[in-house]
Amino acid sequence: MSIKIDSLLIHGGIDGDERTGAVNVPVYQTSTYKQDGLGKDRGWEYSRTGNPTRAALEKLIADLEGGEFGLAFASGLAAIDTVLSLFSSGDKLLVSDNIYGGTFRILDNVFKNFNITYKIVDTSDLSAVEAALDEDVKAVYIETPANPLLTITDIEAVSKIAHDNGKLVIVDNTFLTPYLQRPLTLGADIVIHSGTKYLGGHSDTVSGLVAVKDKEIANRLYYLQNAIGGVLGPWDSYLMIRGIKTLGVRMDRHVSNAGKIAKWLSESGYTTKVYYPGLETDPGYEIQKKQADGAGAMISFVLDEKYDHRTFFESLKLVTLAESLGGVESLVCHPASMTHAAIPPEIRREVGIVDELIRLSVGIEDAEDIKNDIEQAIKASERK
Ligand code: PLP
Repeated sequence: MSIKIDSLLIHGGIDGDERTGAVNVPVYQTSTYKQDGLGKDRGWEYSRTGNPTRAALEKLIADLEGGEFGLAFASGLAAIDTVLSLFSSGDKLLVSDNIYGGTFRILDNVFKNFNITYKIVDTSDLSAVEAALDEDVKAVYIETPANPLLTITDIEAVSKIAHDNGKLVIVDNTFLTPYLQRPLTLGADIVIHSGTKYLGGHSDTVSGLVAVKDKEIANRLYYLQNAIGGVLGPWDSYLMIRGIKTLGVRMDRHVSNAGKIAKWLSESGYTTKVYYPGLETDPGYEIQKKQADGAGAMISFVLDEKYDHRTFFESLKLVTLAESLGGVESLVCHPASMTHAAIPPEIRREVGIVDELIRLSVGIEDAEDIKNDIEQAIKASERK
């Protein structure tokens, strides 16, 4: 029976426990498994290689993304590390011009040392992507909406250009989750998540997930997952499955709150710039509407120079200044010194991550309370 995403969130993957009828997948807190004789295991050997609780989560993310195969890792970066390990010395990746700082760091300070290089392009500009696809490029790596400027890339169009040229497409879908956007169904080859964010949803678990359609890519990734070893533990796998059950209701509230806050911020007179792909004035609005079921709940903005952003952060009472995003609570951060500090200042300036930029992860509290807190903090930050 084919079921819709709201039901799949609850019943997708491995639904409950066949043996006992428990409605939740048990936490198989074990590192190893009894074998009945040499070469006679019961399908499980060692928990780095495979664990039933992790396998349930892996099947779940594959189902949700419209893929065939899923993998779970100890963090989003462990997932990214494993995906980047598909490449070899001499290979090059094209990457979106604003991406999570840690993704830039692993490319620039880890994989570059192994001669796997990258080129930054504005992936929202299809002619720029096409022009940059030289022979060494093996994949296009996209964040859409990108972190932190929420730039929108047309996944279907980029996938077509990349595939016509024999390149892979990798999409970091952290900001929207499969509830709002399913890149594999738009042509992408590999989807990556920081499960730490909306999928887990409660700011209590660090995890990473990958989903793919192609068996050959999946087998290579399973090999690397076991060879590198950055797997998610059984308890955290269980917490992720639990978080994902409520993803739909959480995302509906996140998106509705974010729409209200973005509109208010853009009309308030307090800001000089508001980045949110759900605003009709946003350059990515039409593509976002075409390829996703909502604009997400991440907003970035720049306060008018009348206001001091440092005082703004210190004056917030309900909204929390912290790294991360996607939890039920509203979080705010300063990309230049926090999430994107690993990107050299000249590159940050070039791509528009100015020192005054504020990134807001809109939570599921009452929208009016979030707005009131932001407004009182802006007023308190007015320069004397
Ligand atoms: N991708 C995006 C878009 C992120 O925002 C982050 C973390 O903030 C990551 C990947 C890395 O995930 P993790 O912190 O779980 O390693």
